[in-house]
Amino acid sequence: MTTSIIQELKYEPQLSLNEFTEDSQVHLKELVCPLCKGIYVDPILDSCAHIYCHKCYDIYINNYKIKYPNKKALCPLSNLPLELANLKAFNFINDIIKKQKSFCKNKEFGCEWIGLYILRKNHIENECVYQKINCLNKGCECKFMRKEQKEHDKICEYLLVECEKCKNLITKKEFNNHYLICPKEKINCECGKVFYREEKENHSKTECPFVEIICPFNIYGCNEKFMRKNEDQHLDNFVLKHNDLIVEWFLNWKKNKETQIEMKEKELLDENEKLNKVVDSLKKYCDDMELDY
Ligand SMILES: [Zn+2]
Ligand SMILES: [Zn+2]
Ligand SMILES: [Zn+2]
Ligand SMILES: [Zn+2]
Ligand SMILES: [Zn+2]
Ligand SMILES: [Zn+2]
Ligand SMILES: [Zn+2]
Repeated sequence: MTTSIIQELKYEPQLSLNEFTEDSQVHLKELVCPLCKGIYVDPILDSCAHIYCHKCYDIYINNYKIKYPNKKALCPLSNLPLELANLKAFNFINDIIKKQKSFCKNKEFGCEWIGLYILRKNHIENECVYQKINCLNKGCECKFMRKEQKEHDKICEYLLVECEKCKNLITKKEFNNHYLICPKEKINCECGKVFYREEKENHSKTECPFVEIICPFNIYGCNEKFMRKNEDQHLDNFVLKHNDLIVEWFLNWKKNKETQIEMKEKELLDENEKLNKVVDSLKKYCDDMELDY
């Protein structure tokens, strides 16, 4: 039953002998995984001392469990039951492979790198110009060889470019419309003044004659709204009304204060009464004591 699983799995070698130089191939010829027929990658030892790539072994066990969920997995080579908890990394083999000279996996695309196998991963992940990578510009989903990034940047909509005015980095995609939001873009206010967009808020809050404001006597109850340029006119027209509002406000305020004072007074009187009672009872107590002697 185990052979049928292996046949169904159709293993592909993760690492081939011809990815190493001729000198190194001599040392590696025997270090071949029985499952994928490639050079060992992360070799492990099963409970009956057979060696496989870690990944190849996992694939085998997982498929065994699916096919025979209630059976104990058997070694694909000896058909003996496997002790699954007993896996050990076979570092001796790993150490031999690490020291061999390998080609880059992108040799077929033109990479001429040759180096110790232990350095190969870093070369491919960080240096190899023939390695396929995702575009380095955030948001772009294009894939190409690392060496093509520069050429791609010319057309990549996600390349960051600096706005000369505000010095912010903006994607090329957003650049054409950036002037509509750039804080350092000069804008004309309807009042005729020209300033940077970032000054607009302050201008509106403090000086623009075309901004609607609420009457400064609002706290006294005037709810009139008008453009800032009409403020003087409103103040002139509403002198009497504002005076009335202020008087009314003051009277209200006074009444409130008086009520508050009255309440406070009552509280104090109550307090006083309580204290008097305490004094009285103390006096009585003392008198009683004196009588006793
Ligand atoms: Zn393998
Ligand atoms: Zn075994
Ligand atoms: Zn390379
Ligand atoms: Zn891109
Ligand atoms: Zn800008
Ligand atoms: Zn303005
Ligand atoms: Zn007013």
